[in-house]
Amino acid sequence: MEWKGIRGTVLKDVLMQRYTSMKVGGPVSYLVYPRDEEDLLRVLGVAKEAGIKYRFVGNGTNIIVHDKGLKEAVIRTTRMKRVSYSKVDDDALAEASGGTPLKGFIVDNVRHGLSGLEKLYWIPGTVGGGIKMNAGSFGSWISDTLESVRLVDKEGEIINFQKDKMGFGYRTSRVESSECVLTARFRLRNRNKDDIQKDMEYVFDERKKRHPMDFPSAGSVFKGVDGEPAWKFIEKAGLKGLSIGGAMVSDKHANFIINTGRARALRM
Ligand SMILES: Cc1cc2nc3c(=O)[nH]c(=O)nc-3n(C[C@H](O)[C@H](O)[C@H](O)COP(=O)(O)OP(=O)(O)OC[C@H]3O[C@@H](n4cnc5c(N)ncnc54)[C@H](O)[C@@H]3O)c2cc1C
Repeated sequence: MEWKGIRGTVLKDVLMQRYTSMKVGGPVSYLVYPRDEEDLLRVLGVAKEAGIKYRFVGNGTNIIVHDKGLKEAVIRTTRMKRVSYSKVDDDALAEASGGTPLKGFIVDNVRHGLSGLEKLYWIPGTVGGGIKMNAGSFGSWISDTLESVRLVDKEGEIINFQKDKMGFGYRTSRVESSECVLTARFRLRNRNKDDIQKDMEYVFDERKKRHPMDFPSAGSVFKGVDGEPAWKFIEKAGLKGLSIGGAMVSDKHANFIINTGRARALRM
């Protein structure tokens, strides 16, 4: 099919293993990078007209794609990464496009002396992926400082949601797979840059200590139960270090499944 009028990039029959942090995944029919919001709306229009199914990805750090791949278009938001700041009262509003890397956004905030998201430092996803998953770490959630979200729904309509209408829960939100987060607005407060940086260094050091950062993975795999972290149950079950094919329950952090080289994504 032709992607007429698209200003971004369209790749055909690409292996998703190149675009996921787990480094597994078969071919998808199209991998589309819209250049901006307007382009994304055009992509959705073309896909709809051609009757081709689509789904969204950000940085691919929380997904596993089947080895068989998908006869679909995967729309990757990572070129949509505008950030702007404005002042309100004693705080600041930061607006980031859905494809903005969370890490870079947090570094930008520090440059402006703005605090609120630093405990999420080093989560390797995008702002949009973070909103969908209600990403969080070290007791902080992306939704904590969020004010509102603009998203496009399956009809191509752009809707604004205030935070209380986002249905946030433990790693969930109301964002459906047919919807794309276009922008998210955060209310951040002024804080001494050195103090923010100290928090970020702490977060990074702890992650280095606890997580198997030298291997491909999708981060923590299972949700905790009743406030107990999943790694405790996995360790108790004696599964630490278990390896099937190239997929291994990390012996550093039992809730990480790492790809030691030749892991595959098959339906058992
Ligand atoms: C080493 C490592 C450490 C991690 N640590 C943490 C952690 O501490 N805390 C944590 O919460 N997560 C963690 N993660 C998981 C992951 O980084 C987060 O869930 C992140 O928010 C996913 O963002 P992404 O852009 O990579 O999303 P993807 O993996 O690309 O997509 C995830 C989901 O979000 C959807 N999505 C992506 N972008 C959009 C968009 N713009 N609009 C609508 N839907 C969208 C996708 O359709 C998919 O359903 C970690 C992952 C790794 C590999």
